[in-house]
Amino acid sequence: MTTTETKLNSPKEKNTADQSQANADKSATRKLSTDAVHAGEARQKPGDAITDPVFCASTYTFADSQSIIDFIEQGQVREEYGRYGNPGEKVVEAKLAALEGAEEGLLYASGMAAIVGVFMSVLNAGDEVIFFDECYHRSREFCYKHLARFGVTTHQVKTGDFDAMADAINENTRLLVSESPTNPHLSVIDLEKFANLGKKYQIDSMIDATLATPFNLRPIEFGVDYVAHSATKYLGGHNDLLAGVVLGSREKLAPVRNLRGVTGGINHPHSMYLLSRGLKTFELRMQRHNANGQAVAEFLESHPRVERVYYPGLESHRDHAIAKSQMHGFGGLVTFLIKDADWRATADVVDRVKIARIAPSLGGVESLIEQPLLMSYYEAAPEDRQRWGIYDNMIRMSCGIENTGDLIEDLNQALGS
Ligand SMILES: *Cc1c(COP(=O)(O)O)cnc(C)c1O
Repeated sequence: MTTTETKLNSPKEKNTADQSQANADKSATRKLSTDAVHAGEARQKPGDAITDPVFCASTYTFADSQSIIDFIEQGQVREEYGRYGNPGEKVVEAKLAALEGAEEGLLYASGMAAIVGVFMSVLNAGDEVIFFDECYHRSREFCYKHLARFGVTTHQVKTGDFDAMADAINENTRLLVSESPTNPHLSVIDLEKFANLGKKYQIDSMIDATLATPFNLRPIEFGVDYVAHSATKYLGGHNDLLAGVVLGSREKLAPVRNLRGVTGGINHPHSMYLLSRGLKTFELRMQRHNANGQAVAEFLESHPRVERVYYPGLESHRDHAIAKSQMHGFGGLVTFLIKDADWRATADVVDRVKIARIAPSLGGVESLIEQPLLMSYYEAAPEDRQRWGIYDNMIRMSCGIENTGDLIEDLNQALGS
């Protein structure tokens, strides 16, 4: 970020710029942007076009009967039927695998479809899952309401409490699951401890790293088996598509891929074109998301009307040390509490914001803002909200890629004095 782009110079501006530069240096050695632009793509494409075509096909033709026999007997790599994948999806799977440092990626029609895809292929009746308790509310709902119907037991333990997680392990435990950072508290998990706990007991581990993206965190480098993302968020990045991805080793993903071929839930080719296009600017967008997240978090922390800010890039954050050692940056999501405010006074702050739009979701170029109480937990019991740390005076903001000073100025007027 250059200073000319910033209208309102906060005293912390320099730190943000330094950090963004540090991130850029690290990612340069990781060749992230080159992979984001080129990985998975053929050098010469149909029609000699520089972009990949969108093949709107539900099925793929065989030249003759012998071609079918060759395809099966020789295990040829080609398309067969739309539910097993499409050419555009293969391009994006290879691109995401390169970015994540994974052997393979497997795309789904949404992040939830991806997470469910792993659960349903790894777990059998009688198995148990251990989940850190700060998580996306639909992941929790799937475990407790639906996996339970198939005889799978879920244990939720306090986020980051590895002793509690170890205590909950028994001979039926098949999967350890967490997000990092978590939604909406931005807690950061020590991934080395997490992966090692799984290895010690030969239990697979999965991280939903949606909030981090491979720009900020690459869980496979720490030994995690499955990495899931809602590609609807930063990977797509433009609030214009839904998709999800699971990444890991070829061996671990083989049964997951097989089940996806049975259940469906794959992507339309046009959506894959949008995802591939969105990924071209992945590194540039993430640099700005990180810079905006850090600047907004620092501004909010200094504001007298703000009681508390949850952002792993702040020294005041409980997990700042582990976040600093394992992450390249801390993302665009900032959660904060309004001092001495009930739900209505908190809603008033949200309603006065002019740039960020009021909507669920995160990770797009447009900033979004919401009150978790109203957006995701309106129907939850008050004692559950208390237990999950969803407070009436909580606001979650997803910083987009707008001008940093404009976002801060807008929040400043919305908070009033
Ligand atoms: C949004 C989100 C999901 C679900 O992804 P969809 O693409 O909406 O299905 C899962 N986990 C996290 C952390 C998310 O933010």
